[in-house]
Amino acid sequence: MKCREFESRIPAYVKGEMDMEEMQDFLEHADSCEECYGELEITYSVMQGIRQLDSEDGVEDGGGTSLSLDSSLYFARERIKRWTAGRIFKYALSTAAFWSVLCALWFQLRLWLVQ
Ligand SMILES: [Zn+2]
Repeated sequence: MKCREFESRIPAYVKGEMDMEEMQDFLEHADSCEECYGELEITYSVMQGIRQLDSEDGVEDGGGTSLSLDSSLYFARERIKRWTAGRIFKYALSTAAFWSVLCALWFQLRLWLVQ
């Protein structure tokens, strides 16, 4: 992810409108680029402030409790970890299923050929 792209995706991050793959790229960039992290910090607190004002005016607050950027990033990372682990698990499971079917076929074939 490039800096320009990162900046344009900050609002999507704050609103929680990002899929896991994009969020992974986004967080990686935030970790490696100090400038963008600063940009994220500012936009995040401004947007949280606006949200809080909205909810004080009686407008529905979509996000519920407001988090600090640090805890928001922490939760995002935890979600990505679980998502990645889930993907690896599914992949391992389907690979194992594939090979056990193949082995079963192979043994069956040998039985047929021997007879
Ligand atoms: Zn950057």
